[in-house]
Amino acid sequence: MSSLIVKIVKINKIEKHPNADRLQIAYMEDNDWSVVIGLNQFKVGNLAIYVPVDSLLDEKLENYLFPLDSKIKLNNHRVRAIKIRSYISVGMFVELTQELISLYPELSKKKSGEDVASLLNIQKYEPPIRNLPKNMQGRIAKRNHSLFKKYTDIENIKFFTNVILIDEMVQISEKCHGSNSRYAVLPTETISFWNKIKKFLRLLPKKEFLIGSHNIQLNINKKLYYDRNIYKDYKKILKTLKFNNYISQELAFDVDADNIICDHPKNKSVCKKCLNKIYKAALKMKGEINDLGFKKIEIVYSGRGFHVHVMDKKASLLSVKERSSLNKKFKKFPIDPWVSRGYIRLIRMPYSLNSLVSRKTMPIKTKKFSSKTGVPKFLKN
Ligand SMILES: [Zn+2]
Repeated sequence: MSSLIVKIVKINKIEKHPNADRLQIAYMEDNDWSVVIGLNQFKVGNLAIYVPVDSLLDEKLENYLFPLDSKIKLNNHRVRAIKIRSYISVGMFVELTQELISLYPELSKKKSGEDVASLLNIQKYEPPIRNLPKNMQGRIAKRNHSLFKKYTDIENIKFFTNVILIDEMVQISEKCHGSNSRYAVLPTETISFWNKIKKFLRLLPKKEFLIGSHNIQLNINKKLYYDRNIYKDYKKILKTLKFNNYISQELAFDVDADNIICDHPKNKSVCKKCLNKIYKAALKMKGEINDLGFKKIEIVYSGRGFHVHVMDKKASLLSVKERSSLNKKFKKFPIDPWVSRGYIRLIRMPYSLNSLVSRKTMPIKTKKFSSKTGVPKFLKN
């Protein structure tokens, strides 16, 4: 999060506005932004307050700067870059008038170069955190690592025109617009109860790996999947990442608790009752797949449902069209059709931990299913 600096600056250059006679362009010392001003509103050498883009004004200041009859109005109290007669004006200059000083008497003591953001109660606008997709919402970390924000704490170079000198060596990095992700390895912060115990037992790693976006730190959700595709040359696939170039794909059906109605509490994704219900469906499905001439069928408990793996070679050679007609045949079962249609290649690795529900992904070898299946050791004690 970059900080907000609202400085008193000296105007050092004024130019004609290219498209308007009653407007001018003004520049300031030690700062590279240009601002559209009214004709003769300022003279070179005048002091002004430079209010940068993304400043949020409070009611008092906004009412003073944009009284009822003002042509310009702010949207949600926020100063933005605006085009005035096709010229982009970045931020605004506020005149140090007697009226302003009577509203903020402390201003009279301030000199050129001083920051007056807190004096004028100007806040920095931060974009709201967008609603995450449902399956991501539980992943936002409740506590953020105190150092994780630091690396995006970068100010725009236009605020610091003299920071890089001619012939100075610099490192250039590129900012891609439209997306932001952060990854960091930082010293572990002993915050959680478990971490404190681990630290006491000297089991706490010195460093931790963190992921997140610009505003959010995520809990790391470790998952282990395997690829159902068989490739002719997997090394080539790993180079090109063209995973749709495969010879065959293991057929698997995802029988999911989400697909049946159950009266378990809303904060739970699954319960004993619906698990037993869908296990019955998976068993019945296994029988029907068997009737179609497939022999190697395994049911795997996924933590929130079941995966029915069909391991026969002829099943792996089925086309997308044939898989779709199988989906149609099994429409009565609570399956996610996209898993068996052939477009999705990854599936949970048996015996791996499903961290969403803290259950192990377990192949079921007996006819009877117990909801205790897959409860990992660390929960049994
Ligand atoms: Zn349920």
